[in-house]
Formats: sequence, structure tokens, C-alpha cells
Amino acid sequence: MSASAFPLLATGALRQAQGVVSLSHHAGRRRSLLLTAMATVAFVATVSAFVLFEERWPDGTVTMQLQLGTSGRLTDGSASWGESAESALAAWNQSISRVQFRVVRDSPAPRGDGNGVNNVFFSNDVYGMAFDTGVLAVTTDWVRRTTRIEADVIFNSAGTWDSYTGALRRGTQDFHRVALHEFGHVLGLDHPDEHGQTVTAIMNSRTSDLDHLADDDIAGAQALYPASGGGSTSGGAGTVSFPPRNESLDFRTQLDTKYRVGLGRRPAATYVDNEGDIVWTQEYLRYRVNRCTHQQAVDRVMSQIDGGAAMGVCGAAAAGQVQFPPRNEPLDFRNQLEVKYRDGLRRSTTSTSVDNEGAVVWTQEYLRYRVNGCGHAVAVQNVFVQIDGRAAPAVCR
Ligand SMILES: [Zn+2]
Repeated sequence: MSASAFPLLATGALRQAQGVVSLSHHAGRRRSLLLTAMATVAFVATVSAFVLFEERWPDGTVTMQLQLGTSGRLTDGSASWGESAESALAAWNQSISRVQFRVVRDSPAPRGDGNGVNNVFFSNDVYGMAFDTGVLAVTTDWVRRTTRIEADVIFNSAGTWDSYTGALRRGTQDFHRVALHEFGHVLGLDHPDEHGQTVTAIMNSRTSDLDHLADDDIAGAQALYPASGGGSTSGGAGTVSFPPRNESLDFRTQLDTKYRVGLGRRPAATYVDNEGDIVWTQEYLRYRVNRCTHQQAVDRVMSQIDGGAAMGVCGAAAAGQVQFPPRNEPLDFRNQLEVKYRDGLRRSTTSTSVDNEGAVVWTQEYLRYRVNGCGHAVAVQNVFVQIDGRAAPAVCR
């Protein structure tokens, strides 16, 4: 259940959003219970960022029955609540492909809790239960085993609503950003700020001046519904392309934080800074998956470090899943890289919380996901799941 409460408490003159969410998981088909204050969170996967429920929709379309009634023209130009809601659904659709929202405008579908129809409407209660004080909207969650089968979104008609962009306006709720938030619950996202995370996100439990999906929201949706192929990499027969360096470097930076904060590792001296570590390890692996031997790959990278041009790869990878070398070989490369930076480039030391073996192993894992159909955010998440001691998620194709 995601009693996705998205409440508002009056605090003096300024009304400030404050979140309350509760989760209870039961076997079989069930509906969420609306609980306040106490968050009973079970089976919620907390990774480096966003938080996901375990349940998701099957691939395909999720049809939302928009039954929000009429409005005058709203401040952001929307002709109706329904139009604002459609815009919010379209924003989520742009971030994922495996599941897509569809809408029925001004739907006459019967409203019901547990009727298999996804109703979206205003009401002054939640199927007979009062809204908790200050709650703006609620998303229900019906699941069968781990598959979501119904989600109704109920906006509190007691609020004063408009649809607008920019900073929150005193006394008037922005329907659009609350809709973005609730539809995120429909997809299966939870509140990052209630799971120890400090991120910029629409999915945080409090409304804020943020009026659009943030990177963390999108990464969460993509983790729930990973692309089944494509992305910035190519696989199969032919030369294997690697991700752009800024993404690999972002991974390497997050890995350092994960080791330092998540695993409590102390920084240690290294001659190879994070950027050099990721760039040259990636380059070494690029040669390896494209048919170069260990020695050929080492020689080519060292030549590049000395200022030589990047050389051609040694052949085309076989069709199918891209294979990586045994871990002892990239580790040997990484140890040679350390010597190269110290003696060849005469670099002074910097520090990293990730030992050479961890750096090589997890960089290779990150790249393995990337060249096998996973996007950046999904690849990072899949690596961190493993660092947390869980089984390696499958690649994305
Ligand atoms: Zn919420």
C-alpha cells in the first residue's frame, strides 16, 4: 500500500507540506491501509537514491480514468484539472518506455476501491475514511502477489487548488506537482526523504518549490521499469560501444561515496585519481571486450597515457551478451596503472575510499550492465545492490 499521504500541516501562516506514508505488506491480494505517522516499511529497496516499492505494473499500459470535474482556466494555462493531470502523466511517460500511462478523459467509469479501475478524482474522503489532517491526496495500492493491479488517486477536495509553476503559493496548492507525486506512487515510487535520503525530488514527502520531475525521480522510474534494450550503448555483433565518460565518472564518484559512507571505508592514498582510474580502466576493458588480449590492451592504454592516439580495437565482439575478462586481469592492469602514474607520470598521491580491487571489480560490473542494455541509473543501482550483498540483478537484455 502506499498510503501516499502528501499532507499539509498548518504551521503559522505558512502551510508547509509534510509527508506521512505507511506501508504494510500482506500476502495475496490486499488493499493498503491508511495509517498515519508510523511508517511500517517492509521490503522497500533503498539504494543510493530513490526508493521503490517491491510491486510494479506488468509491461504495457496503465489506464487512468480521469474524473476530476470541471475548472476554469488554470494559472498555468491548463483548461481543466484533467489536462493538468494528463500533462503530469505525460512527464512520467517520457522517462520510461516499458510501462506507459494512458488516460480516459472525463471518464464515466464507476468509482470503487478494489474494482480494478484506476480512478483519479477529487473527494472529501477516501472511500468513507476521512483524510488525515492536512493530507492533500492519497494513492491506493492494490496488488496481487507483487503485481500492481489497481491504483486510485484521490485529491482532497477540501484544499484550495490551482495548477501553476514555480514557487509554492501561500494557501493554494499546485495540483500539477501533487499529481506528479501521486502518479509516481502509482508507478511504485516511495518517499526518498523518509528513507534517510536528502535528494531533490518530486517524490519527497513534502511539497516544495520544485515543480517538475527531478533526475532522482526519473532514475527511480527507470529502475522500476528498465529499458529492455537500446540506450547509449550497442551490443551484439560488432564493436562494443562504451558509455560516455561523464557517466562512467559519475559512477566512479558515487562508488567512492558508497565505500566511504555506506561501507565506512577509510580513504587511502593512490597515485591514480578517480578520473584516471575510470577513464583508463574503461579504456582497458573496451579493448578487452573487442578481442584484444590482456597484454595488447595494457600496451595500448599505456601508449595512450604517454600521449599516443587511441588505437583501433582488435576485432568485433561475438553476437549476444558482451563478455568481460576474468577479474584478475583488469586488477593486474589496475596495479600497473598505479605504477605508471607514480613512476611514469610522477604524480603525487591523492586519496580514494575504494581499493584497487573494488574499483576494478565494480567498474567492470557497471560497464557490463551498460554494454548489455542498461542505462546509467540502472547500472549504478545494480552494482550497489551487489555491494550491499545481494544477488547480481540480470542485465537489461
Ligand atoms: Zn507521497
